[in-house]
Amino acid sequence: MPCFNEEEIIGRFHDQVTKELESLAADFAVEFELVYVDDGSHDRTLSLIEGIAASDSRTRYVSFSRNFGKEAAMLAGLQHAGGDVVVLMDADLQHPPELIRRMLRLHGEGFDQVMARRTRAGDRVTRTLAARVYYRLINRLVDVELVDGVGDFRLLSRRTVDAVLELTEYNRFSKGLFAWVGFRTTTFTYENVRREQGRSKWTFGKLLNYGLDGLISFNDKPLRAALHLGLLLVSVAMAYATWIVGVALVKGVDAPGYVTLLVTVTALAGVQMVMLGLVGEYVGRIYYEVKRRPHFLVKAANTPVPHRRPRGE
Ligand code: UDP
Ligand code: MG
Repeated sequence: MPCFNEEEIIGRFHDQVTKELESLAADFAVEFELVYVDDGSHDRTLSLIEGIAASDSRTRYVSFSRNFGKEAAMLAGLQHAGGDVVVLMDADLQHPPELIRRMLRLHGEGFDQVMARRTRAGDRVTRTLAARVYYRLINRLVDVELVDGVGDFRLLSRRTVDAVLELTEYNRFSKGLFAWVGFRTTTFTYENVRREQGRSKWTFGKLLNYGLDGLISFNDKPLRAALHLGLLLVSVAMAYATWIVGVALVKGVDAPGYVTLLVTVTALAGVQMVMLGLVGEYVGRIYYEVKRRPHFLVKAANTPVPHRRPRGE
């Protein structure tokens, strides 16, 4: 569970999820542990987690030196989770713990990844629409399939977790990484739950950047698209030039259009800026990758880093 400033809800979350897991542990004859990752919260989240861990030996936690983002927090969670099966979930109760039962059942049927897909009920219309357009676009552009409404609430088998951990890239777009890993995958839909307490950390700007990340961090098709657009523009320009020359030959030289010129120049400058920015994005990503910085730094933890239980133990 990645947690960032969740002091209002984390206690309630823990109670509910533990209750659910205890009943699952009895029904499925399994053991469980909880791994909380405090993503550099500014509020009392860490001390609350420490309190929980002190009274519940099944709880382990890692706390970051600052806010590294949810992707880093999930990575840390996967690294520290020792189970044969790992469930990733938000700590704000928007991912209903009751659904874990369904996930486990599907896992029992042989699925490696069980994804919970939320409906968009209660979302703002603009956000729903934007998401729909975005997913249509992105699925045309990236090789892996991304599904609208599928978030990070999912069950992963041990081999899937290990595979995801092999992907050590710095820019992590988990939705894409999980899809890239593959294995036997299934999805079920659940009714969207609104956040009761605390606030979503997603602002419009953050969402926009996340969307761009998804587009760019996954493959180089946008570069190819830029190339195609460039070629298209060159052919249009050549056709236009031929036409102008033809007209000049037949009718004599005409006074050149000032507006046409201005519009063409600004439009092309805009296109060039966008393409340059696009290339810059890729170069920037290479820059971050070659630095090889850690994904996060740990400030406090009650578990060794990274924890991996040997298989079959
Ligand atoms: N989160 C995090 N680091 C961040 C932002 C969010 O660990 O920088 C956690 C947060 O505590 C929550 C989950 O990620 O458990 C989802 O965040 P949020 O509820 O803000 O997103 P939403 O549900 O609106 O998509
Ligand atoms: Mg939430």
